[in-house]
Amino acid sequence: MAYLHCHHCHWSQDDFWEEYYNPISFMEKNYTKELLHGDLDRLIDLQTDIPFTKKVFMSKMTNREFIAKEMERKARTVRNMIYRTMEEFKQKNPERKCPNCGKKELDID
Ligand SMILES: [Zn+2]
Repeated sequence: MAYLHCHHCHWSQDDFWEEYYNPISFMEKNYTKELLHGDLDRLIDLQTDIPFTKKVFMSKMTNREFIAKEMERKARTVRNMIYRTMEEFKQKNPERKCPNCGKKELDID
């Protein structure tokens, strides 16, 4: 995976997508089992049960709501993604101009 971001204005997008990493594969890999077999009404504490979250939500919610929020977050990623792959980025933006500020400060980590 590679992460495209701007050193000037801090614009960024999701890691470049590939077969093994994209919003759909992420949801499928992380939530299919829980969606089919987990207790969806279990109250989860995001700070202890899901420590990798950015904790932007309230600290407790149902498992069902958490999965729904994750789907909404990934939907935003689909809407906002500009360069889906490294190849697309190189082809459409060879000068590495930031789509937000216009500076040639884009970098890939
Ligand atoms: Zn920028």
